Amino acid sequence: MTTSRIINFNPGPAALPLPVLEEIREELLNYKGAGMSILEMSHRAKEFEAILNDAIARTRRLLALDERFHVVFLQGGATLQFSMVPMNFLADNRSADYVNTGTWSTNAIKEARVLGKPIRVAASSEESRFTRIPHPIAFSPDAVYAHITSNNTIRGTQYASVPDTGGVPLVADMSSDIMSRPFDPGPFGLIYAGAQKNIGPAGVTLVIVREDLLARVPDNLPVMLKYTTYTAKNSLYNTPPCFAIYTVQLVLKWIEEAVGGLAKMDAVNRRKAGLLYSRIDGSGGFYRGTAEAGSRSLMNVTFRLPSEELEKRFIEEAARTGFGGLKGHRSVGGCRASIYNAVPLEGVQALADFMGEFARRNG
Ligand SMILES: *Cc1c(COP(=O)(O)O)cnc(C)c1O
Repeated sequence: MTTSRIINFNPGPAALPLPVLEEIREELLNYKGAGMSILEMSHRAKEFEAILNDAIARTRRLLALDERFHVVFLQGGATLQFSMVPMNFLADNRSADYVNTGTWSTNAIKEARVLGKPIRVAASSEESRFTRIPHPIAFSPDAVYAHITSNNTIRGTQYASVPDTGGVPLVADMSSDIMSRPFDPGPFGLIYAGAQKNIGPAGVTLVIVREDLLARVPDNLPVMLKYTTYTAKNSLYNTPPCFAIYTVQLVLKWIEEAVGGLAKMDAVNRRKAGLLYSRIDGSGGFYRGTAEAGSRSLMNVTFRLPSEELEKRFIEEAARTGFGGLKGHRSVGGCRASIYNAVPLEGVQALADFMGEFARRNG
């Protein structure tokens, strides 16, 4: 039993900013004088609508979205988006391009095919065991959209820049790097992100969708599976996940007001990733990064030790020292430090120090 908080490198659900947790605790029993908790309040209450609209406004400001983009909150996780995207945009059975960079993109491809959609895999890094982001990618000009996974949470790879699709709208699963760095939203038709990695708790998915793509949404879909249901009713067609949206709002406020926006967030995130990658690269081969240098993720740092025995010992000793969540995904093994927005620089520095010391003792 640990009595104090760990330094949390969990892959998701993951660390939340401490000031956000403190604010939740502060407001939990009586939200801003309403006489009740957010947990107990109607989603039609003016307090909740203010929270929802503030979360949307902050998303728009942070990502510099123009008026063509709708911001909505859904349930079903990023995984439901694997189905909703093709259901909504490929009703006429036109094709879309997918780039396969690991487990999550593989699942997105699988779900589109379950629906019988004639999608095309434009590029894949499967033959190099998903250790890199394919480049360059030959996208089809006839595709309705081009789907990418911007950060591959399990393999520890990330697009260093937005790929050029030649004008085909990008659809991006940004579950594990949304709000971690600035980017030009212009080429994107839809962005989705399960909140539980970088912007909040489990239970809500942020979806950003461009107006022109909504014309493709067919009438004959169940109401909860249509993007237009959410865009027409400001995410309030039925009861949304109120508490999760409230937490997202506080995280976005923290990014805007305490961190100072995405350029500053990116600078901190780069320093954090730099600390770990330079520790790995400077370890004389004791630690081995699993992603190719040009494709390394700033969010999920994946690495191996000389043996599985040492990996086990590393994870156990790290846990005893107060570092949690360092075990690699069960499908790939090894170690992974997820250093999302909320993981502080000092925590990452402490892990880098521990890694150096562990290598000296066991190398
Ligand atoms: C975690 C994750 C998912 C799955 O998210 P759920 O919300 O559990 O459905 C999908 N894509 C990426 C990139 C992820 O990191």
